[in-house]
Amino acid sequence: MSDTSVVKIPRGQTEARREYMRVYTATHPKRDRRAYKAAYDAANADRQADYRKRNSEHLKQVRAEYYIKHRDRLLLYIKNRTAMNRDKILAYHAAHYQKNAARIKASVAAYRKANPEKKRYLENKRRAKKSANGGSHTLEQRLEKFAALGNCCFYCGCKKPLTVDHDIPLKRGGTDDIDNILPACRSCNSSKNAKTSAEFLAYRTNHAAIGGVGAKPVEAYTGR
Ligand SMILES: [Zn+2]
Repeated sequence: MSDTSVVKIPRGQTEARREYMRVYTATHPKRDRRAYKAAYDAANADRQADYRKRNSEHLKQVRAEYYIKHRDRLLLYIKNRTAMNRDKILAYHAAHYQKNAARIKASVAAYRKANPEKKRYLENKRRAKKSANGGSHTLEQRLEKFAALGNCCFYCGCKKPLTVDHDIPLKRGGTDDIDNILPACRSCNSSKNAKTSAEFLAYRTNHAAIGGVGAKPVEAYTGR
């Protein structure tokens, strides 16, 4: 049974308030307290919204102070709650995605189109992570290295859109560190496949020498 009679305790009487709340929570089941609060909030929604609006700066500060003071406990709570509800959260995300698939796909496609460098960077990062060989580089490091190499394909020298090539391929244990990264056009990168850069350069030279199918003239390389 919920007791909806309101006992007014004057401001400042903190101990009296605490005692009242202790007795109140002990004698009222959580379900009833929640129902009472929901009804109260619904009846006073306008007044509460007005209060929040008038005191937004103060409330922001209170929240920030509370967060700083209880940060470790809050983060632990969130971590535990996330772990406990993992399946529920995944199901929620899946349902959300399904319901909004068209909108999400369009927004992701628009972002990728507007940020091609970032798109390539993230694609490579995902691939490197999957290989679990370790290492990493930032987009800035990659752009810097590509620029230092003339922003052209390391193998054919063309200026077509460049992809991230791993000198020692990921599938042969190469890392994603910047030392192992070279610019390559899509065509060279895919024919290089699981060869190292040295192996691929030798392969291209031999291929051209015997007049192999699709062989292109081999340019002089200035090296890395
Ligand atoms: Zn190329």
